[in-house]
Parts: sequence; structure tokens; C-alpha cells
Amino acid sequence: MNQKVMGRFAPSPTGTLHIGGARTALFAWLYSKSLGGKCLLRLEDTDKERSKQKYTNSIIESFNWLGIDFDEEPVYQSKNKNRHLEKATQLVEDGQAYFCDCSTERLQKLREEQQKKGFKPKYDEKCRELNLKQATNTVVRFKNPGRGKVSFNDIVRGEIEVSNEELDDLILVRSDGTPTYNLCVVVDDIDMNITHVIRGDDHVNNTFRQVNIFEALGEEIPIYGHVPMILGGDGKRMSKRHGAASISEYKEMGVLPQALLNYLSRLGWSLGDQEIFQFEELIEKFKDGRMNNAPASFSLEKLLWFNKEYLSKMDEKELIGRLSSFCGYFQKDDYSSKVLDLIKDRCNLLSDFEQETKYFFEDLEAIDSKDANKTFTPEAMDVLKILLREFSALEDWTSESINHTIETVMESANLGMGQVGKPLRLAVTGRMNSPPVDKTCAVLGRDKVIERMEEALNKLL
Ligand code: GLU
Repeated sequence: MNQKVMGRFAPSPTGTLHIGGARTALFAWLYSKSLGGKCLLRLEDTDKERSKQKYTNSIIESFNWLGIDFDEEPVYQSKNKNRHLEKATQLVEDGQAYFCDCSTERLQKLREEQQKKGFKPKYDEKCRELNLKQATNTVVRFKNPGRGKVSFNDIVRGEIEVSNEELDDLILVRSDGTPTYNLCVVVDDIDMNITHVIRGDDHVNNTFRQVNIFEALGEEIPIYGHVPMILGGDGKRMSKRHGAASISEYKEMGVLPQALLNYLSRLGWSLGDQEIFQFEELIEKFKDGRMNNAPASFSLEKLLWFNKEYLSKMDEKELIGRLSSFCGYFQKDDYSSKVLDLIKDRCNLLSDFEQETKYFFEDLEAIDSKDANKTFTPEAMDVLKILLREFSALEDWTSESINHTIETVMESANLGMGQVGKPLRLAVTGRMNSPPVDKTCAVLGRDKVIERMEEALNKLL
């Protein structure tokens, strides 16, 4: 094959883009790109009932967000109907397909009889040699080769074959004049000059049929790669139970597109033990790695690990920009930057930042009474009073000086960190959990810390 590599991803717009589809698309895209080729997007929208423009829009939006940039304009399969029918006519004229007028009742009966005898249902080729003319009740059937086998060398699974006897004379055009899936795919793949088809392994059985149609049309067969499906951590088919399903939901959860792409790339592909791949590196190295032929399993925990890695390395300006739709607190100022530094590694998702940083930007919410009763004991209130006095007298307000004060109070009152740090933390953050309390106080600033300590003391005394 001297032609330039041309890959494609061909979703049916009958739903939003899910993890499995996005992973397959990424592999198709990366494979083409790593071989210096192009990758096209084809929307297989021939099912008029189930295909919706809103799904097409959402699929395209998800790819834009992920940064998977398909070449050329998307192709809408429904617009190619005349070409599909033209090729069906060509096949009939060449004696590779024929008109069939078998009624649905006859076919139903045939199927039942075959099943009763324990055979796999298959069209009995009644009309194959009858040379029927086209009529309102005829379908076009493909003359599948009667013997031999169909085989192809799959990039993921190696050599696969099936005996032609297993395959039906499948319908290419229905009696209402609509072309069927296998014909549409082959004709579009030919017209789009597709050289590489990477798709889910649920299509392997279609591939055998499609290879025969390519051959009947005298066209070169693309190179195929069927990637196994993605399973949930429990080994069952991936579903909602295993984490959000569609790409747009991950976006809403606050997953970074870079992290999701990196994770998707590792769902069924590997290059040594490396986990973190920048996008450019993936494009360069995808061909050097290995697409696995065993199902990959999805883990939300692992995805969050990737997200945290990317969050921790993200440039502050970019992070503040990304956070803008999740949390309105951050500005491009020194205070925001200090808060970010302090809480960044406590957040797995962009949506965690608001909750984690609220007390830096807003007045404290009412302290949980259970936490208050447990923490603000009479001894703790005495400690807070001493701390308040020491803090007010501190010359400089840094995490070191604050830490030194806390330690001095601990020593002189012979108390542990819990007895001093916990009431202080609850008073200044309103929570039992926060980053180290000395650092938190330093970022909050002396005025706010003192004000909140006084408030806690006034309420309780
Ligand atoms: N439209 C098919 C699907 O969404 C894919 C067809 C193909 O890749 O050939 O499963």
C-alpha cells in the first residue's frame, strides 16, 4: 500500500460519546498520526429514528474538548445514499449480487425450521440463481462466495479467518430502497480512501462480510485492527455503575482532557511501564507500542490518579483558567496563588477546588455542633485564648513564626499537637480537615485568623 495512511472513526450518532468509543477513536487517530497520516470522522447517521443532531453535536464537542482533531470536514453517511445504491447496482450488474423476493413469512419459517434442527439460521439462497428483476418487494442480496475462507491479518489480533459457509447472502439494499450497514461502510471506506480501520472487536463478524464485498467490488482491502472492549473493574461490561459513562460527564466532573486522554491511551495500549505520556509523545510513539488483544478494565480511581498528576504539574495560569467554570474564587493575584499552592494536592478534580477553598474566600459557615462540642472543650478554649494573645503580639506573620508559637504553647502547657492544632484549625477554617494549620493561618492572614478565633471564643464563652 503506497497510499498515505488514512484512518477513520465512524460513530453512530445515537448517543453521546462514551469511554469505549473515545478510546477506540483515540487509537484510530493516534495510529494514523503516528504513521504520518490523516484521520477522518464519519457520522453513521443512516438510522433515521435513532440518529439525532444533538448527539452529533455532542460527539464533536467531546472530541474538541479532548483535543482530538480530525482531518477535513466530518462525513455524514446519510448523504452518500446514492453512492451506496450505485455500488449495489454495480454488484448486481457484475453478477455479485441479486434481487430476492422471499417474503418475511418464508424467511421466518425457514429460520424456525433451521433452529429446530439445531442449525445456525442462514438464508437458503433460493433466489440466488433466479435472475429476478427489481420489484417493489425485492431486496438486493450479496452473493457471498460459496466456498473457501475469508481471512485478514488484524493488527491487534493477528491472522483471523472464517469459512465462507458460515456467512449468509446478506441483504445490501432493503425493499424500501435503503442500503444496509455493511454496504454503506464498505462504499464509504472506499470513497474516503481509508487505508486503516481501527474499531471495536464487536465488528469482527462484519469485517469478514465487508472483506468479501471489497473483493467483489475489486477494491483494495484496508488494514484492520479490532480493539477489545473496556470492562469495569469487576470484569463485567462497562456501565454506569463503573463510573460516569459519557465524556461530557467527565468534563463536568472536573477531569482534565489531558488526563483523560492519557488514561484512555493506557486502556489497551502500552509502551514498557511508562504511564504518563504527553499528547505529542503519544503521537510520536503510538506505533512503537502494543495494542493489547485482551480487554482493558476501567478504573475511576486510576483516572483520578492521572488527573491529580496533571493537576499538580499544571501551570498556574492555565489552572486558574480551567477552574473558572468550576469555582469563581480565583483571580490572577498573589492570594489566589498562595491558596492554590496550599490546596492543590488535596484535589483530584477541578470540581473539588471550590469546597476545599471556600473558607479562604468566604465567611465561615456555622461550625458543625458535633465537631464544636468535641473540639472546643474548656481546656481548648484556654489554649485558644493564649494563642490569640501570642498571635496578636507576633512580629512577623509567617508559617514559621506561627508554627513556632504553636510549639511554644504546646510545650509550656504540656499539650500535644492535637490539643492545640485541632481547636485552632476548627476556629479558623470551620473544619476538622485542612492543610497544615500553620500554613493555612499564614495564607489566611493575621486579621482573618484573629477575627475567627475571637468569634469562636465569643460564641463559646
Ligand atoms: N458505526 C459503527 C458503530 O458505531 C462503527 C462502524 C465501523 O467502525 O465500521 O459501532
